Amino acid sequence: MANIKFYAGEQVPLEMHKVRIIQRLNLPDVDARLKAITEAGNNTFLLGTEHVFLDMLTDSGVNAMSDRQQAAMMLADDAYAGSQTFTRLSNKVEDIFGTPYFLPAHQGRACENIVARTYVKEGQYVPLNYHFTTTKAHITEMGGKVVELLCKEGLEVESDEPFKGNMDIDALSKFLDEHKGEVSFVRMEAGTNLIGGQPFSLENLEAVRDLCRAHGLMLVLDASLLSDNLYFIKTREESCKYLSIREITRRIADATDILYFSARKLGSARGGGICTREEGPFREMRPLVPLFEGFLTYGGMSVREMEALTVGLEETMDEEMINQGPIYIEYMVDKLKEAGVPVITPGGGLGCHVDAMKFCDHIPQEQYPAGALAAAFYLASGCRGMERGTMSEQRNPDGTEELSNMELLRLALPRRVFTLSQVKYAVDRLVWLYENRHLIGGLRFVEEPEVLRFFYGRLEPISDWQEALVAKFKEDFGDSL
Ligand SMILES: *Cc1c(COP(=O)(O)O)cnc(C)c1O
Repeated sequence: MANIKFYAGEQVPLEMHKVRIIQRLNLPDVDARLKAITEAGNNTFLLGTEHVFLDMLTDSGVNAMSDRQQAAMMLADDAYAGSQTFTRLSNKVEDIFGTPYFLPAHQGRACENIVARTYVKEGQYVPLNYHFTTTKAHITEMGGKVVELLCKEGLEVESDEPFKGNMDIDALSKFLDEHKGEVSFVRMEAGTNLIGGQPFSLENLEAVRDLCRAHGLMLVLDASLLSDNLYFIKTREESCKYLSIREITRRIADATDILYFSARKLGSARGGGICTREEGPFREMRPLVPLFEGFLTYGGMSVREMEALTVGLEETMDEEMINQGPIYIEYMVDKLKEAGVPVITPGGGLGCHVDAMKFCDHIPQEQYPAGALAAAFYLASGCRGMERGTMSEQRNPDGTEELSNMELLRLALPRRVFTLSQVKYAVDRLVWLYENRHLIGGLRFVEEPEVLRFFYGRLEPISDWQEALVAKFKEDFGDSL
């Protein structure tokens, strides 16, 4: 995305691609939105897309593909075993990451299942910069415990720290000294998802690697959000200014022992995989692929997905292809900040993150301020975001709430999907909602699944706040759109 100067002086991101396939969208009126969110149990995961205008739920599996990706899908080699499509993918993975061993899986969490089952033993620890929902679920499923050792700036909502996803190196060093023999592996997550898509620096990752080597531990990298992290290293880390995206990628991969990713994000396709440089871990994890995923040359992915992924991975090496997301997000963050709406700064990858703790500071955390804000934002705009707060946590074993460090409404900007006027619309409705935030009330569960409850749990508003919000909307906008 070029930094082209506009004669009028305006600072607007300018796309270096054009749109050649479109999908018709529908904007339901505010009464229809109230009906839809009520039927969805106030959980945006349960909304059907026929009721959604801009789908900002996630970047997972919904990034726009390039023409080259689509073309490659037509040339797929369908075979249960030994498909040339798989060979092309595996060669591309080796070319980019320098890892000769590749295990395919149907998506990111499937890789986590395989890694956790192979390496996490009952009672052991997995130190990490920050957890991701499915990562933590798989580690705890095996009886392991995640230990978050994020740098202290990571959880500050407003910050100038360019690498809020960094591991606290001193804390990691201390932890490893104190827990010798009790650690399964150390995990780093690129583009740290739950704290707002925040990156780590290459320097930090290499420091983590040095500690792992000194303690004889494996470093596992979750590279699902690597493309954003690469862009941030290139543009924010002084010592990497002159490295190409490809060189940065190789330095990152070289620092790790196991690298896995969700191809629903990385490579703008679907699927996933685990890459290793050494044969040992490959052999240790391999038996689980046919057991859970499929044969070793597809692992639950369709050949078309694999072809699209092969091209998508190569396109990830092109700065012009990976900068659209972060630059759009920065634009959105800046506009919201200007209007006084509390958002996570600096902007990260994957989406814009609104601070619901501050936005809804009148709603106690036990009433899910971020979940309430997600429902309210849908009412105000027809746009669907995702709760990333206490609802996304698991209850403690004794049944008490595990209150989240942050309460965020995530508005994902799937890569290359939305136009700038659509982003402006979302900003406009969010500013309106901020001015009427006192009308937003809390939620409570009426149906609460035990594991990953945020996916399909159902909630209800604690008062009639939604009717009041709809009434105010009609008053201000005259019509009901
Ligand atoms: C999305 C994501 C996953 C899980 O990937 P799926 O393909 O959705 O299973 C794991 N880790 C991170 C950091 C992610 O963003």
